Amino acid sequence: MRKRRIEQLRRRLERREAEIRENLRTKEEEYREVSQETHAEAMDEAQVQSDSFTRDVMQVHGDRQLTSIQAALQRIREERYGLCVACGGRIDEGRLNARPEAALCIACERRNEKR
Ligand SMILES: [Zn+2]
Repeated sequence: MRKRRIEQLRRRLERREAEIRENLRTKEEEYREVSQETHAEAMDEAQVQSDSFTRDVMQVHGDRQLTSIQAALQRIREERYGLCVACGGRIDEGRLNARPEAALCIACERRNEKR
């Protein structure tokens, strides 16, 4: 893949990374505010638990995406970007355009999904 193309994708990954971090931070703050209010008003425990559950799910999802974005940035630094981490084959450029953090080529991802 051309250097310029990788550079563009790197910028997109870095922007996305910043967005997710910001998002997680906002969620964290909202959660803290909500739980403080909840305690003040002494709402029932079930509500508190469901808020905490929602937050955990979002945290896990965000973290997972963050992890794959950071792994992609790492591959760029190591000049392995665009190569499938499973088979070493080239990842389709259109696929990287749609998902710059993709670590697997389409064939390997399909194999993964079947498992
Ligand atoms: Zn592969």
